[in-house]
Amino acid sequence: MTKRRDFLKISALGGLAFVSNSIKANMPKGTGFTATNGGKPLVISTWNHGLAANAKAWEVLEAGGHAIDAVEKGVMIPEADPEVRSVGYGGYPDRDGNVTLDAAIMDHDASTGAVSFLQGIKHPINVARLVMDKTPHVMLTGEGAQQFAREQGFKEENLLTEKSKQDWEEWKQKSDYKPIINIENHDTIGMLAIDKEGKVAASCTTSGAAWKMHGRVGDSPIVGAGLFVDGEVGAATATGLGEAVIRTAGSAIVVELMRNGMSPFDACKEATHRIYKRHKGRPEFDYLQVGFIAINNKGEYGGYSLRKGFNFAVHDANGATLQDAIYHYEE
Ligand code: ASP
Repeated sequence: MTKRRDFLKISALGGLAFVSNSIKANMPKGTGFTATNGGKPLVISTWNHGLAANAKAWEVLEAGGHAIDAVEKGVMIPEADPEVRSVGYGGYPDRDGNVTLDAAIMDHDASTGAVSFLQGIKHPINVARLVMDKTPHVMLTGEGAQQFAREQGFKEENLLTEKSKQDWEEWKQKSDYKPIINIENHDTIGMLAIDKEGKVAASCTTSGAAWKMHGRVGDSPIVGAGLFVDGEVGAATATGLGEAVIRTAGSAIVVELMRNGMSPFDACKEATHRIYKRHKGRPEFDYLQVGFIAINNKGEYGGYSLRKGFNFAVHDANGATLQDAIYHYEE
């Protein structure tokens, strides 16, 4: 039986790419640590694959580039990596064997672009960016999104790798739609950045829940659910069971809580707690995992998850770290 935790577990830093000793000593892991340079620039993203993505984003930020460009370039790394089985090329397919992708990008001034249920395009985040820059709309979906991508010169390709195909065929033997928490089947990359000018931006890209129904769209491309930015406040993004995040307008809530004075960590914690309250007793609760990360305009950040197993990558002037999120539940 799941055990309620009143006190949250603080786990050790996961993998540590680089961090100085003085910083390490002062680092309250995910609790809203402010970098010594004032937190600007800074990039933070979900899961292990956030490390490589952040490194790319950091190049943009360090050179004085805009946060919006950093979050676009950064998440292209896991999108192109076939070993990342939950994003872009090589992502797990739906139950019919189709890789369908969702992505969104949002800037400090509420400029937004998103694509959902997009097939055959390796970098949905680039398509989302063009929806933002070149159309009067916020989201294009399915065949329409694909047509737009084609018109913009994107190459169509088969995104189902041999490995993902084999896993899908194995899954079909049982056809048991039961997501397993944190086992590589919902590991979206969500990325938040603040640039040298203090502007914030966010991106989010995913192949969604493995073995989902054909046509299913998760939280990641939905503004206010999978990501949200308010230039006056900060930004947030989510990972985990998208349906739960959509039901609760997860990322918008995190940003609104920060507007009302909460730290990024406290805001992520409160939004997670709401998801807990709304879902306790529902059938999906047994496998429900959600994680949020957030930054504010000061360059403070935080992360929190419902259950153990969520981590996030942080990159600032002091280097790169991977931090285990504090969580609500033991199991
Ligand atoms: N949130 C994503 C979705 O439900 C999955 C993930 O976080 O990997 O589509």
